[in-house]
Amino acid sequence: MDLNSPISDLPKVGPIFEKKFERLGINTIENLFYHVPSRYLDYSLITTINKLRADETVTIHVKIVSITNIFSKRGVRMQIGSVEDETGKLMVVWFNQPFLLKMLYPGRLVSLSGKVGFFNRKLCLSSPDYEILDEEGDQTFHTGRFVPVYPETSGLSSKWLRTKIRDAFAVSEIKEYLPKDVLTRSDLVSLKEAIREVHFPENLEEAEEGRKRLAFNEVLNLQLKSLIRKSNWKENRVTNKLKIDSSAIYKFIESLPFKLTDSQSKTINEILKDLGGEIPMNRLLEGDVGSGKTVVAAVGAFAAFLNGYQTLIMAPTQILATQHYETLNRLFSKFKLRLSLLTSSVKLHDLGRTDIFVGTHSLIHSKVDFSKVAFVVIDEQHRFGVEQRRHLVKRTGTPHVLTMTATPIPRTVALTTYGDLDLSVLTEMPKGRQKVTTWVVPEEKREGAYEWMKKQIVTEKSQIFIVCPLIEDSETETMKDIKSVTSEFLNLKSVFINQKLGLLHGRLKSIEKEKVLNEFREGKTDILVATPVVEVGIDIPNATIMMIEGAERFGLAGLHQLRGRVGRGSKQSYCLLFSNFHSGMAYTRLKAMEKSHSGFELAELDLKLRGPGEIFGTAQSGFPELKIASWNNFELIKATKEVAEDIIKNPKKYPLVKTKFEASTV
Ligand code: ADP
Ligand code: MG
Repeated sequence: MDLNSPISDLPKVGPIFEKKFERLGINTIENLFYHVPSRYLDYSLITTINKLRADETVTIHVKIVSITNIFSKRGVRMQIGSVEDETGKLMVVWFNQPFLLKMLYPGRLVSLSGKVGFFNRKLCLSSPDYEILDEEGDQTFHTGRFVPVYPETSGLSSKWLRTKIRDAFAVSEIKEYLPKDVLTRSDLVSLKEAIREVHFPENLEEAEEGRKRLAFNEVLNLQLKSLIRKSNWKENRVTNKLKIDSSAIYKFIESLPFKLTDSQSKTINEILKDLGGEIPMNRLLEGDVGSGKTVVAAVGAFAAFLNGYQTLIMAPTQILATQHYETLNRLFSKFKLRLSLLTSSVKLHDLGRTDIFVGTHSLIHSKVDFSKVAFVVIDEQHRFGVEQRRHLVKRTGTPHVLTMTATPIPRTVALTTYGDLDLSVLTEMPKGRQKVTTWVVPEEKREGAYEWMKKQIVTEKSQIFIVCPLIEDSETETMKDIKSVTSEFLNLKSVFINQKLGLLHGRLKSIEKEKVLNEFREGKTDILVATPVVEVGIDIPNATIMMIEGAERFGLAGLHQLRGRVGRGSKQSYCLLFSNFHSGMAYTRLKAMEKSHSGFELAELDLKLRGPGEIFGTAQSGFPELKIASWNNFELIKATKEVAEDIIKNPKKYPLVKTKFEASTV
């Protein structure tokens, strides 16, 4: 057996266990070894009954004298045993494990590991782990040493996993694939040693050392994958070649109602340079909400148009697709460009001549002929899976691709995960944007805040967003979420008696969504109550107050994105973060929102404080979770990046890496 062998090669692992392993993401022996313990129990102190002290965690080798099932006064089923060694006798208590009596019958020699406590004021071991000692000796595995505890799924206990990992380790051939000098430079143990240390450590230092090596492999793997994707991509040649007519493009830029920021100009130059080439562009454009990404994409679309080719713009929601369609129509009003908004209701024959298609992911499956598409724009890319992206690109031959995101992905993460993409960043906001004044509002100031909001509606003609968090961590709204936002909506109606309120959530039909949104846009409603799922990309300049309930439940980047919904017009805008937390980390995080107005800064801060899963929400597709390493380990990310680049540059130096990564599943 080797690392690539399927898990079913292990004895006694049939289809049922295969399924259970699958749930842990384990398909191969290698996956099994990378299923690292979540913690270790220190059962290494082996002692005798006469030396026991309360609260110590110990291992004793004893003989079962007696054991019975009893019901406690409160009706709990208990297993009470008496055990002995040459130094004395001891009580042992378990709860709700009647089956133990079959294994631990009188006369049996066992090793018990657990914490010393009291029962009826006498010393006892409470719910110890046990292991039958056979006659040959007392070599123990589940007791009497550092014992790993694994992340479990129903039906795969730590004890069982431990045994399987031991069996696999005993028979697997584990080859080192990194050269010695790489290991030395990063102070890493060999792969085989690392796997031993992680699963069968003598002490915690060993476990840590082994973990360090496996973490290195994990991140190196990601780095290599994206570099390989990159070099594969560079093998492509564009189907529809573009010639860049700078002076015509300049005319378009001149026609805009505003002057581009330096950042926009720089990015546009980067993009035009790519678009003129034969290797298709694959670029990620990052920029805060409101930084003006749309116009950058528009310039690219214009370049395609000048060549007689088409552009495809894909937005994550219908609302955003419609908004892009309207915005671009305005931007191109002085030119003869034709846009088509592809919705489920549009018939193919209605389309007519089109220069820019705008739509949602349903574009991927549409029957429209995309063979004249030279430029593809994907907005808010983290919402699209890699697969969807690939499908869309496939549908269009090999076009230039620009993906845009307002998620301020920290540089370290971007360079690792999206290392195959070239990166452009809009670092400045258009002139005249003021900072959104932000306050963390404690519960006792809620009433006061509501009064203030009412006044703002009357005196400043303000419009207000009120965003309620999702109850459960998931990307889509559950019925529970809808109920909760609906009940909050009714509640708010009784607070804002003289104002008009609208309710927007993901379960509304698109036509209803549109209606609610239009009423808000046209100022017919004063307050829009919404869930966070209801996007965020919407542009309503007259909305000047963003109020967020349960703010501590959001990542800072998410809060920052929501905050970006206001402050789009010329009026002073405000963001009110409601939270019950008055101290501690949750509070510190929220307070950072008052001071910082940079999405990148906030994302980095959250990365340090909480880790990336929290920044982006747990279920954001396309964002990789690390099992072993941590995204805040910048040193590791840097070291693996250097090695990955060297592997690509000098493959001869790494003969085993290639075969390894062709087969790898980690
Ligand atoms: P986002 O990056 O969030 O997609 P948009 O492209 O929607 O931002 O731009 C937000 C608003 O800013 C739009 O109304 C757009 O017309 C405007 N805008 C874009 N660039 C500039 C600029 N250089 N100066 C002034 N306003 C701009
Ligand atoms: Mg946008």
